[in-house]
Amino acid sequence: MFNVTPIPAFSDNYIWVLSTEGSNSVAVVDPGDASAVETYLEENNLTLEAILITHHHNDHTGGVAELTAKRNIPIYGPANSPFEGISNPLSNDDTIELFNQTLAIREIPGHTLDHISYYSAHKKPQLFCGDTLFLAGCGRLFEGSAKQMLDAMQYFSSLPDSAEVYCTHEYSLANLNFAAAVEPSNRDIRTSITTCNSLRDNDKPTLPTSIAEEKKINPFMRTSTPTVIDAASNFSAKKLISEVEVFAAIREWKNQF
Ligand SMILES: [Zn+2]
Repeated sequence: MFNVTPIPAFSDNYIWVLSTEGSNSVAVVDPGDASAVETYLEENNLTLEAILITHHHNDHTGGVAELTAKRNIPIYGPANSPFEGISNPLSNDDTIELFNQTLAIREIPGHTLDHISYYSAHKKPQLFCGDTLFLAGCGRLFEGSAKQMLDAMQYFSSLPDSAEVYCTHEYSLANLNFAAAVEPSNRDIRTSITTCNSLRDNDKPTLPTSIAEEKKINPFMRTSTPTVIDAASNFSAKKLISEVEVFAAIREWKNQF
């Protein structure tokens, strides 16, 4: 497994720093802000060895040019990305070796068409999923379809419950408020609100979350649960049958929430 630490950036982004025990070599995921990364590297005496990109948005890629101006390091990212700074393009079922550990690539379009995730299937599995899965939420559908995003949710559901989930944004409390509106009687959501409030009060990230937790609290991963189907049908004022209809209704509801 990787040691993972966050560099907070902008108002609510996390740039995740990956390393292994006893080494000063690190990789960063989605470095939108070069100066935040440089400061962290300098303060902790670390060497940047690789960059992992999940999708093209500027708050995920904006620091790449500056970080690589004086470093000759691989920049991994989606093969179909409009972002032009990728040196090692990746597609479905590719794997990369990072500090002697394997990361499996999965294309998870929806938020954007070029979105990928990185998954490490070690004793403690770890998922780096950019803006696709959030604690109690999912990314907005800027480029892809509800069907594509639902497919991504189903991929995440297929991962081990113990997998840690590293998302890029601190959106947890807003997402949980929405999740509680969808499922007012879901006690796990209430518990998570209490936990996340206390973490934020102490200025700590609410992340990582886990696949097990998301299956309990995330309406976008619960589109086959009767309470979520009923709530989505209520919102749409018609009986929704298919999971993709339920997903699309919940996404639309969240957009308006
Ligand atoms: Zn994005």
